[in-house]
Amino acid sequence: MKALRYHGDKGLRLEDLPTPTPGRGEVLIEVQAVGICRTDIEIVEGSHPFYVDGGPEQPFTPGHEWSGIVRELGEGVAGPPPGTLVTGETGIGCGRCDLCRIDQHNACPNRVETGIFGRDGAMRELHVHPALLTYPCTGLSPDEAALVEPASVGVYAAKRANVRPGDRVIVLGGGSIGQMAMQASRAFGATEVLLATRSPEKLALARQLGADATFDASAQDFVPQVMEHTHGDGVHVVIEASGNIQSLHDAIKLARPLARIVILGVFDQPWVQTIGVLVANEYTILPTVGSPGVWPLTISLMERGRIQAQPLISGKFPMDQYQEAFEVVGRGGPRVLKCLVMPQG
Ligand SMILES: [Zn+2]
Ligand SMILES: [Zn+2]
Repeated sequence: MKALRYHGDKGLRLEDLPTPTPGRGEVLIEVQAVGICRTDIEIVEGSHPFYVDGGPEQPFTPGHEWSGIVRELGEGVAGPPPGTLVTGETGIGCGRCDLCRIDQHNACPNRVETGIFGRDGAMRELHVHPALLTYPCTGLSPDEAALVEPASVGVYAAKRANVRPGDRVIVLGGGSIGQMAMQASRAFGATEVLLATRSPEKLALARQLGADATFDASAQDFVPQVMEHTHGDGVHVVIEASGNIQSLHDAIKLARPLARIVILGVFDQPWVQTIGVLVANEYTILPTVGSPGVWPLTISLMERGRIQAQPLISGKFPMDQYQEAFEVVGRGGPRVLKCLVMPQG
């Protein structure tokens, strides 16, 4: 089978590898579509925070946002049956520690993350995955199913913030995760959902996907505009999904007392000047990693159209055009959202 392999300084290469066999508890999957995300670019560039002290073990297959069709069940696996369209959870815990036992395998100290570290990802024709973390998504297209992973991150953000009726939510960032978190906040019943980003195209997309109002985050008076819109009240929930530190500074200005602030981006810069601002306002700060416990919910929200993925797909590339695909995502830009690699051509 063909597989993309990351070779450290020598970059990515498409290689022929033996067909993998599913072990006990695993399923063999014919991969249909794989999203490329910022994490993949950072792994390949060697700039991902997990790899600041050197790249992943090499060679290594990336790809953590994927869909595929079950072809074979390993020993002891009852399903999903061959022929089923599935996707699978990224983080795989040890299954034995106290965090795994309460379904928080995203924080398991012994976990691996599919296509990120410790376990090969899905940028290959055939992928093996633990059956227990493989979910049917027969109501979605293969392209949409590859976006369950970023959607689940948005759903987990809304769940962490306990978004509910009465809440006014602002999502900062209009990339895939921001658009997903905005839709998830609506699905959770927020009374008003706002989105701010710098790209006019992404603002228009957010309105198309149901944002009640959008704001140009690059405008000088961006914060006053939002405050005016909220009659000076600010918001109950901020979901930071841009990865831009300026956005986290804005978050504090937009948050009303008792607000919940979800942080999805990974930052290594200082943030608040003093802890006093957090204490005085009793803010709840919710840094999040991964999306444990929300995959079936995410799939059902997508199957019912409450979260739309198709409008986020801005490019599709056969796997042998991976260089172009990675370049397009690496460059980014106002029109680039989710690009998919198609391992079956
Ligand atoms: Zn990702
Ligand atoms: Zn564990």
